[in-house]
Amino acid sequence: MRYEEPVFRPPSEASSLIIQATIGCSHNKCTFCGMYKGKRYRERSVDEIKEDLLMAKDFYGDVKRLFLADGNALAMDTSKLLEIIEFANNLFNLERISMYATPQDLLKKDEEELKMLKDAGLKLLYVGIESGDDEILKEVRKGVTSKQIVEGCRKAIKCGIDLSVTIITGLGGKKKSYDNAKNTAKIINQIEPKYTAALTLMPIPNTVLFKKIEKGEFEPLNPIENLIELKWFVEDVNCETIFRCNHASNYLPLKGNLPHDKNKIIKAIEYAIKNPKVLKPEFLRGL
Ligand code: SF4
Repeated sequence: MRYEEPVFRPPSEASSLIIQATIGCSHNKCTFCGMYKGKRYRERSVDEIKEDLLMAKDFYGDVKRLFLADGNALAMDTSKLLEIIEFANNLFNLERISMYATPQDLLKKDEEELKMLKDAGLKLLYVGIESGDDEILKEVRKGVTSKQIVEGCRKAIKCGIDLSVTIITGLGGKKKSYDNAKNTAKIINQIEPKYTAALTLMPIPNTVLFKKIEKGEFEPLNPIENLIELKWFVEDVNCETIFRCNHASNYLPLKGNLPHDKNKIIKAIEYAIKNPKVLKPEFLRGL
């Protein structure tokens, strides 16, 4: 396999075979994100990807899970994705194929395309929705509204594809903390994703957001304010979703099934607010 570094993958894909179908992110404009700033977006050729899959077969033998990187492999033309998936299915006994997708990718694909991908083996899409607040989405240049996020995500779920969505606490800073929590919970309830992962904002040097903080134009939340925002969010989630807050960026690891474990999660947050010594120190946080 040939990789164009850096390669990112969700924590739950640690044991998956990772193949880059695309390089970078086709959007690449979010003000808080530095993941693919050094890469020009492009699709790799199907032949090149097939060669990588053959190399993986030689090296690992059979694999059960395949994750197609980079930032949003779903942006690739559906016929090419189907060809890659079919080739991979013929090489391996795959139980799960997954990839990152932007809400824009979901809006662009029609239901027929998503169903074909699902039938070919695409089981899970990781979608960064970040916030359900339209002012914040505009400010961070996400390129979609909350209504469009719900529309794209619902379409994928209707076609039988599971979604793991990420939200970011602190993305609205001090000014929009309450709105970020409440409006994000609102769209989670509308989407009803199988998994919801909460990340905590970590300003990345050289991003637009970082420069705004330096100029005093954006006030980031402190750890306690982040937990208060997380509590506001959890209070309002009423759909069934497997909730994870155990990313390297989080101050307090939490997990449970919402809404069933809501009280337990809220109590854990309240305990940490009163006992901040249990929080992860800043130097141990990461992305
Ligand atoms: S947050 Fe996602 S969509 Fe936005 S630039 Fe980063 S990888 Fe691309």
